[in-house]
Amino acid sequence: MEAGIVGLPNVGKSTLFNALTCSKAAQSENYPFCTIEPNEGIVAVPDERLERITKYIVPKKIIPTSLKLVDIAGIVKGASEGEGLGNKFLSHIRQVDAIVQVVRCFDDPDVIHVSGQVDPVTDIEIIETELMLADIQTLENAFSKAERTARSGDKEAKLRMSVIEKCNAHLAQDLPLRTLTLTEPELASISSFGLMTAKPILYVANVSETDLEGKDPLVAKVREHVANSGAEVVCVCAKLESELAELDEPDRSEMLAELGLDEPALNQIARGTYRTLGLESYFTAGEKEVRAWPIPAGATAPQAAGVIHSDFERGFIRAEVYTLEDLETYKSEKDIRQAGKLRVEGKSYVMKDGDICHFLFNV
Ligand code: GDP
Repeated sequence: MEAGIVGLPNVGKSTLFNALTCSKAAQSENYPFCTIEPNEGIVAVPDERLERITKYIVPKKIIPTSLKLVDIAGIVKGASEGEGLGNKFLSHIRQVDAIVQVVRCFDDPDVIHVSGQVDPVTDIEIIETELMLADIQTLENAFSKAERTARSGDKEAKLRMSVIEKCNAHLAQDLPLRTLTLTEPELASISSFGLMTAKPILYVANVSETDLEGKDPLVAKVREHVANSGAEVVCVCAKLESELAELDEPDRSEMLAELGLDEPALNQIARGTYRTLGLESYFTAGEKEVRAWPIPAGATAPQAAGVIHSDFERGFIRAEVYTLEDLETYKSEKDIRQAGKLRVEGKSYVMKDGDICHFLFNV
């Protein structure tokens, strides 16, 4: 699963991407289009439950889950007609599973704003409009194709045509496709189109150093604007985070303490992106390692086992499951077992976020 960072030029995407991935690969310069090729990075998803587990089960290694981030070059007004890096931008965004949109809420006369003034809601609308226009084009092409195939009596093509019409009607009301409810078969019929406004989205409000809590009215405007879509908004000061990301411990902790922060805001972005991707975690815990594994919400026990190794899914027999609360109550797995709290779950068990598991399987 991967997420793409998008935003108008000069909103702080590259600064944020560099801080998140601790790489200097993406250049950060004060002019539009400085990020020409998409840059990719892997980001750990910090989870305080790992530390809670390792209070009782002390491992040699602690491994959080991670996700892939792609820094996608600057979109501008007119991108859907090929303006700026238009088509290139769009083809990259089609490939990601979720979008992280950075909007500028910081004021800095030294950093040029592409449309002359800082207005994050307009920024969101510009990008949304470009993505909607591109989706309309995609759907138009797909409709002609489906129409030709449907002439020979293809039932799937007929379904596809009706779903495309639904999508078009939704877009015509100026609404992104992520707010359209479709059935599983309907979704499957258009899943190969890479429709961009159907992708889940997380908004990152890039705030000033003097406004780490996001008290600026611009942030409130962003929250209000996206409230109905169910999307999350995370506040971050990209500039400050990039300074933090360059520091080694214990300097980093010291700076955080001076700022009155428990953790870098980047952690919230990583977790927010993870949730936006629809991912949850389960844990395996032993003396060798305590590890978080990513699963889509609603995954069954064999599917969860398959994340570790496909053989585990194929040969799945059963899972032994307990919760973090059980561990905190009984202090060890042995005592959880003795107390009869170690649950045995079969093939149809739907995993819960935070389950701690062992899998038994045939090879
Ligand atoms: P991109 O075009 O969206 O990738 O933007 P960049 O990350 O290249 O940032 C554009 C300019 O804005 C650079 O000069 C950054 O130093 C500056 N910048 C980024 N984030 C912040 C911030 O939080 N505060 C301030 N004052 N400047 C920032």
